[in-house]
Amino acid sequence: MKKTMKTKTATSTTTKKTATTTGAKATAKAKAAGPSVDKEQARRRVEKIMPILAKAYPNATIALRHENPFQLLVATILSAQCTDVRVNEVTPGLFRKYSGPADFARAPLAQIEEDIKSTGFYRNKAKSIQAASRKIIEEFDGRVPADMESLLTLPGVGRKTANCILGNAFGVPGITCDTHVIRLSRRLELSAHSDPVKLEFDLMEIVPQRKWGGWTMFSHYLIWHGRRVCKARKPACDQCPISAYCPSAFQVDR
Ligand code: SF4
Repeated sequence: MKKTMKTKTATSTTTKKTATTTGAKATAKAKAAGPSVDKEQARRRVEKIMPILAKAYPNATIALRHENPFQLLVATILSAQCTDVRVNEVTPGLFRKYSGPADFARAPLAQIEEDIKSTGFYRNKAKSIQAASRKIIEEFDGRVPADMESLLTLPGVGRKTANCILGNAFGVPGITCDTHVIRLSRRLELSAHSDPVKLEFDLMEIVPQRKWGGWTMFSHYLIWHGRRVCKARKPACDQCPISAYCPSAFQVDR
């Protein structure tokens, strides 16, 4: 009898422990997922903030200097884990030396590495630039393709880079989910996702594709606002023109 009771007590303790662990896991998961987002409210918020940001940043544009889609592709690959300022210091000399994909395709890899070294992660970046250049020559007639599907086949190109090229070099609407777009979308409760691809698809549902500059300008507005006002640490909510519509206004604690 005693043995049965002991077994029951042990079972109940284990059940409690399991429940506590499951509860803690669920809470952690919920925290990681962030606030749940009402898409209709998020859509209305976008309608309010976009014209304000468009007025605040009439000259918003991409910071990476480039003269053609191929230069933008190279600059975007170089910008991974590197500031745009640094990339802009490197690219003028780089593009004087390598005038297009053919030059990068035939150059010794070690030479490309040397030429882009100061942007960091130069071995992988050099490999991607050379492999993308070769593919562009072999499969796309020497020109950067202007559609998402083809761009994604190029080494070193993910959706972020592809959207950046589509929007800024070809005028095809695209939302570039960089660190600023991710942070601001969360603070503005436009999406519960931090994963850039999931976020991109959420934003495509609530941001007008062409109105107020559409998807491409929406990315620029958030990036500009993130760099100037809504910084990662200590956002300047008291100077923010969209604070009236921001659920996180004056509540970000770091
Ligand atoms: S109110 Fe504050 S948290 Fe919200 S967007 Fe503006 S600066 Fe960022």
